[in-house]
Amino acid sequence: MKWQPRLRVQRMFRKRYVRRPLFWATTLLGMIWASPVTLFGLLIGLPVALFSGHLHVVRGHTVALLARGPIADWLLKHHPFGPMNAMALGHVVIAEHQGLSSRVLIHELAHVRQAARWGPLFPFAYLASSIWAFMRGRDAYWHNRFEIAARKAEKRF
Ligand SMILES: [Zn+2]
Repeated sequence: MKWQPRLRVQRMFRKRYVRRPLFWATTLLGMIWASPVTLFGLLIGLPVALFSGHLHVVRGHTVALLARGPIADWLLKHHPFGPMNAMALGHVVIAEHQGLSSRVLIHELAHVRQAARWGPLFPFAYLASSIWAFMRGRDAYWHNRFEIAARKAEKRF
């Protein structure tokens, strides 16, 4: 039989006893790496939850805190980039109290994964991508590479 190390490694990662600790280890590292951004998210998420709101843990391909309530509704309605359904700040997702769809949540969890990958550099990378799009005559939000990737994640749902 031919030696196929790559195939053996792929098979090993499919096993639950390898996949699960690996998921939690990478998630934990991502949480630590993104903690400065998450801290900012908590500064908004905690008042949202404390004033007639809710705080939930959501889990998809990553883990996040979902904060919803009247303060979140107001903030999202008056977002400087225009009204939004939700926004992710590190591992905190601030979302509308009513009508949060699975599609929107998947989009925001994609941003959570991006924050886990980029850590404290994420806000700067996001801004740089918007500036780059704007300089090329494109829409700073719609053509931001992180938004494009999050929309692709929605389609995989
Ligand atoms: Zn987005």
